[in-house]
Amino acid sequence: MSEFNQDAVRQPCKVAFIGSECYPFVKTGGLGDVMYALPRALIRQNCEVRVMMPLYRCIPDKFKEKMVYKGDFMMDLCLDGRQFYVGIMELEMDGVIYDFIDNREFFDWGNPYTGLWEDIPKYCYFAKATLAVLNYMEWIPDVIHCHDWQAGLVPVYLRTRFAETPVGAARSMLTIHNLRFQGICGIPHMKYWTGLPDYLFDYPVFKQNNDDANMFKAGLAFADRITTVSKTYAEEIQTSFYGEGLNDHLYYHNSKLYGIVNGIDVDIWNPKTDKLLPATYDSADAIEQKKANKRALQEKLGLEVDDSKFVIGLISRLTDQKGLDLVNAIFQEMLDDNTQVVILGTGDPRYEGAFRYYESVNKGRVCSYIQYNEGLAHQIYAGSDALLVPSLFEPCGLTQLIAMRYGTVPIVRETGGLKDTVEPYNTETGEGNGFTFDNYQTDLLLDAINRGKAVYFDDRGRWDEMVLRDMAKDVSWENSAKQYLEIYEELR
Ligand code: ADP
Repeated sequence: MSEFNQDAVRQPCKVAFIGSECYPFVKTGGLGDVMYALPRALIRQNCEVRVMMPLYRCIPDKFKEKMVYKGDFMMDLCLDGRQFYVGIMELEMDGVIYDFIDNREFFDWGNPYTGLWEDIPKYCYFAKATLAVLNYMEWIPDVIHCHDWQAGLVPVYLRTRFAETPVGAARSMLTIHNLRFQGICGIPHMKYWTGLPDYLFDYPVFKQNNDDANMFKAGLAFADRITTVSKTYAEEIQTSFYGEGLNDHLYYHNSKLYGIVNGIDVDIWNPKTDKLLPATYDSADAIEQKKANKRALQEKLGLEVDDSKFVIGLISRLTDQKGLDLVNAIFQEMLDDNTQVVILGTGDPRYEGAFRYYESVNKGRVCSYIQYNEGLAHQIYAGSDALLVPSLFEPCGLTQLIAMRYGTVPIVRETGGLKDTVEPYNTETGEGNGFTFDNYQTDLLLDAINRGKAVYFDDRGRWDEMVLRDMAKDVSWENSAKQYLEIYEELR
């Protein structure tokens, strides 16, 4: 028997994160937050993490200036073996290494996402390039953790083109942040750009319907593990209502499917140290200081300045997913002389127009800020009493977690991560984190808002207790990072 304790010499788990966006370089939604915060939480659990993403034009110069050139090579892609440049630019930040894949043809123009016709080639190239870069740098991870459809081809290339190369020893995990977006196009377009053999374009892998190829579907088939960002969403996506056409595929693969809820970075989202807030606070002075933040918010947004008003915030992409048709339908009914509504978001012109209209006819009571504005988001989280998240579907949702951290009571629909993270208020015991409703119906949303108002106006002691309970809730990454690590360890 060996005299060494095997556990004591076990090397840290090496993980490569591959995804299309990462805060603070580029973020369009929750994926960007996760790509930033989860690697940091894993490092605290003694993992070695490298994050790989495209070197987009829109990444601020202050980061580009600090990047170090690590090498370049030519790589073949496509059926005709066309050669493409792959450059590697590297940056280290707080113990995490970021490798940016440089190719001007794909990444040095427009926004990160410019439409599927161009995005399919872009992310075929990206997926193949990341594996080639890992071989080039001779950094072979135990696990390659891929995120959303843009990294969907990584598990496919790993087990085909790269199977006999050094990186072929790695295992793969594919996380679904949002199943609605899948990377689908006609089979010839996908065949050409991936350069993958014909047999993969049949049913169990790429093929969808008669003529389409689906990148996410192929990745899910080949990944060693699939995770998604809440337990409830992991169940929901196996049903036709939430499965976005892949429910049967996911049901078939459910022995390797896990739900792990997201956290938030509690250093960035900390009301005690948040430099963007007019008044910082913790649980000792939250009730008073939130009023100061409310007054500052009202003043900034042209609302009547009065901290006795019930302020409802909504911070969201303005799309159907977020339940905005319900909000639109009850907008006037949720307003009253003691209620104000603040909306921050951009998206579907239909909703942008509707919310601008509601502001114009409710001056002083409604503000619709149709923009992406990080600073204002912080001020709304701090200055609102309640945050509305009535989503049609919500894989995890971060806004309700941030709201609770800032002592703002979430009003949510019981779906996906919203259901897993917001315990409904119990009128008997006074316990719970927020107000919830189940079926996707306007009257139920209005009822949830009215139940919230009733506690706020008629039972302030219990409301304030809920504010403090929400602030004390653990919404950090630590627990979830441990669950990811358990799966990584199982894989290696
Ligand atoms: P999704 O990823 O579906 O858009 P999430 O709730 O997972 O939704 O994440 C949304 C993230 O984006 C949160 O950090 C939220 O604060 C931020 N966000 C959304 N819209 C805006 C906006 N208009 N301005 C600033 N931040 C926003």
